[in-house]
Amino acid sequence: MRKKIVAGNWKMNLNVHEAKLLFQEISAIVSKDNGAHEVLIFPSSIYIESLLNINQSSIEIGAQNFHHQNKGAFTGEVSAMQLKQLGCKWALVGHSERRTIFHENDADLLNKLKAALENDLQVIYCCGESLNERESGMYFEKIGEQIGLLKTLSQNEMNHITIAYEPIWAIGTGKTASPAQAAEMHDFIRTKLESIFNLEVADSTSLLYGGSCSPQNAKDLFACSNIDGGLIGGASLQANAFGEIIAAI
Ligand code: PEP
Repeated sequence: MRKKIVAGNWKMNLNVHEAKLLFQEISAIVSKDNGAHEVLIFPSSIYIESLLNINQSSIEIGAQNFHHQNKGAFTGEVSAMQLKQLGCKWALVGHSERRTIFHENDADLLNKLKAALENDLQVIYCCGESLNERESGMYFEKIGEQIGLLKTLSQNEMNHITIAYEPIWAIGTGKTASPAQAAEMHDFIRTKLESIFNLEVADSTSLLYGGSCSPQNAKDLFACSNIDGGLIGGASLQANAFGEIIAAI
């Protein structure tokens, strides 16, 4: 059975006090929920250790970014190996902000996927089309290519991959994909996984929706059979809003 997951991507937000407070508020919500849902938080990497130290809930903590080499002369970088040793369980790979702002290409993403998997981190692999690709009708082709990057992974490695469909035009814009648009793409991704791998991989991979997901739209999105949760940016910075999204699943 695939897991239902709600993940909060805090991006480069919050000071250390705000991060700890928000984490404690979300922990209290998750504890009341008896850990019925898998809840993940991706804070700035400098806060990971502090949050792990105060974590008394079932929340798992992930890294927004890392370098694919385990160690070496890469000034300013943090490796998947270091994150794993710290107690991190998850990592994001392929977020559109990494692809566009930091120019991460397929080779970079594949290296990161391999590094995360070698270091026993679970990965949320993000994919999504631009507004131009949506409007020109190229969105299935684009997502098909991005999912195609996973084809060199083994079935066992795929057990550690969760996919987040995040249309770029919906990220941080307040413009959400309609449940019909999101469902259509999630159906496509699951079918694509079956054609690349097999039915077992397709059925067991959790597919999250991301892009201006909020307490107002989460219920309708999560009601779609192939949407197994969400990757939440802005709304994960408010405990109440994030709690309502968790409750919507
Ligand atoms: C994200 O950045 O992964 C995201 C989904 O952001 P937002 O919820 O703010 O659109």
